[in-house]
Amino acid sequence: MEIYDKLFYDGKWQDAQSNDYSDVINTANEEVIAKVVKASHKDVDQAVAAAKAAFEQWNNTSPETRAKYIEKIKKGIEDRQDEIADTMVQELGASKTFAQNGQVPQSLNEIQGTLDEFKDFNFEEEVDNATIIKEGYGVVACVTPWNYPMNQIQRKITPALLAGNTVVVNPATNTPLTAIIYAEIIEEAGLPKGVFNLVTGSGSDTGDYLTKHPDVAVVSFTGSTAVGKGLYENAATSVKKLVLELGGKSPMVYLKGGDLQLAVRSAASTVLDNQGQTCSALTRLLVPKDELERTKEVIQDYYKDIKVGDPAEDDTRVGPMVSEDQMNTVLDYIQIGIDEGANVFLGGNRLNRKGYFIEPTVFTDVTNDMTIAQEEIFGPVLVVITYDTQEEAVKIANDSSYGLSGAVVGPEKEAMDVARQLRTGNVTVNGGARSPKAPFGGYKQSGIGRENGLYGLEDYLEVKALFK
Ligand code: NDP
Repeated sequence: MEIYDKLFYDGKWQDAQSNDYSDVINTANEEVIAKVVKASHKDVDQAVAAAKAAFEQWNNTSPETRAKYIEKIKKGIEDRQDEIADTMVQELGASKTFAQNGQVPQSLNEIQGTLDEFKDFNFEEEVDNATIIKEGYGVVACVTPWNYPMNQIQRKITPALLAGNTVVVNPATNTPLTAIIYAEIIEEAGLPKGVFNLVTGSGSDTGDYLTKHPDVAVVSFTGSTAVGKGLYENAATSVKKLVLELGGKSPMVYLKGGDLQLAVRSAASTVLDNQGQTCSALTRLLVPKDELERTKEVIQDYYKDIKVGDPAEDDTRVGPMVSEDQMNTVLDYIQIGIDEGANVFLGGNRLNRKGYFIEPTVFTDVTNDMTIAQEEIFGPVLVVITYDTQEEAVKIANDSSYGLSGAVVGPEKEAMDVARQLRTGNVTVNGGARSPKAPFGGYKQSGIGRENGLYGLEDYLEVKALFK
């Protein structure tokens, strides 16, 4: 078992001033695979001080120089992609196939997408008699969750660093090993000291202290809406900017005449891959009432060959949940669904074996006011809701406190029409692929700000007007 007792700040791995450790668990067999030190408040102070000291020089480097460092980081990820994927299989429980073909390539594509857009970005422009200057804010605190342990960090630090900020990252307690590899890659890329800093430790202590720190200018958080709401108070200490990417309860709207197989496959994939621990997962499948029976057949057919099991095996689609807590949360939601009168069409149980495995679960007889249709479950659970008219479908889709993502499958014109009416930050129409250059982020309680491409960059840029 590995012990990680160092933190990365001021350009090197430094002894933590703490004897407190958290366990990293292999979620498939419940064994402790590593112990990782929890940074003390003193450690956080030093990491923030290093980031603050590095800011001016980094903010004044040329955009081309900053882009070169990001390219080197991308190359470092490419070189270590098998090791990164294996680490995610162990600490997150992502299936090997999804880690290798989903998680890692997503990070590489998104970094490249941002770099491509960045090439032509103007940090200065003229408006009337003013020169408008865009530059970094200062120190950005990045608090990241466990579901995409590399990409959640990447989505923050790529734009933040390109914009001229320096960063202190507090990764999720469940998945710090991927973050540590990321820090090693950044060390190897040779960024000036203090530009990137990593402090492991729990969000409720290390993350909380970091996001209140008076020398932090921007707090960038991805995680639950509950924690996101609490960060307003932390940000208020010194009027920090907040960038929030929070939860979702996204609808897949199937319209008569569309490709039902595509609708089912697209929604199901998002709740099967990564065990449904994806903020943009299409967890509510809306179908016309008279298409329910056909939908059930298509679902049954799609689910019959899905293998749940050891995430390290090539043919496994669904691995274990990230933690015992997350597994229990999902099982509780399944029970609530049953108690509120929904019908378990498929699955519904924990697997009788070691590890935090849950059967892929599909509920029918669900109405949109039920808890399982309103709250983010973050597990392999799909709910099927029926509707009578297209207007009703749109109403149900938008009847949510979240607004992160959505999808429509149907005849093209109608599908586009419904897509425009959805109150969500992203909508996929008839399976359209998501571009890494396009913005990602949510309406309503799904967050504030956007990630990816130039939209992500803008969130990390201060704007100054010089009048001549
Ligand atoms: P949290 O929101 O609690 O955790 C996300 C990150 O925030 C973790 O790094 C966590 O640290 C950190 N954190 C927790 N409390 C604080 C705090 N007070 N100040 C600063 N940082 C903090 O999510 P959970 O892991 O508990 O998951 C619960 C639910 O949240 C899921 O079921 C899902 O619905 C949602 N979620 C949404 C995600 C998304 O991508 N939008 C990602 C993850 C979860 P630590 O790791 O130490 O707990």
